Amino acid sequence: MNIILFGAPGAGKGTQAERLVSHRGLVQLSTGEMLRAAIAAGTDLGQRAKVIIDRGELVSDDIIVEMIAARIDDDCANGAILDGVPRTVSQAHALDKMLNSKKLALDYVIEIKVDKAALFARIENRAAETGGARSDDNADTLRKRLEVYYENTAPLLPYYADKGVLKSVDGMNSIDEVASQIDRILG
Ligand code: AMP
Repeated sequence: MNIILFGAPGAGKGTQAERLVSHRGLVQLSTGEMLRAAIAAGTDLGQRAKVIIDRGELVSDDIIVEMIAARIDDDCANGAILDGVPRTVSQAHALDKMLNSKKLALDYVIEIKVDKAALFARIENRAAETGGARSDDNADTLRKRLEVYYENTAPLLPYYADKGVLKSVDGMNSIDEVASQIDRILG
């Protein structure tokens, strides 16, 4: 089973993805995590990505598509949870093409809906709890990340609704309740 967890920064995609990994044996493909790993490792790509990430902007589609393609081939035979990708219409098209070429299906796109005000509060909490481990978890960058989400990423919702794979859960609920709603969708 291949699913996309969809939502604004701070919606809880990573939290729910981790739970699906342990309960269903799916592999989490978080492009944000992959990029942070590249930054921590000090690779060329990491150094280029850090500047963009700290501005709250999007890394180029080519880099993202390449990173995902490599992992899908590598360790996702059981299925994957895409977390934080696709984020643009062109990434969505590239993903469709890649899955088709590998005869894989996209089973569900699960949108986790959270109010804008709650997103700010959550990211502030995350920054406090993790001691600022993510350099993009601050009010200025978050404002930009949200702007980018509503402008570039949210327009993918009708695209997936038209394909008949879009489901929504209420991300204002507790983590356990959101997890139950996702379980009911996945069956
Ligand atoms: P995330 O951990 O998903 O919130 O991603 C953190 C940052 O990494 C984003 O604000 C972007 O700068 C970059 N990033 C992660 N995933 C993508 C993607 N699919 N396309 C472009 N940029 C991405």
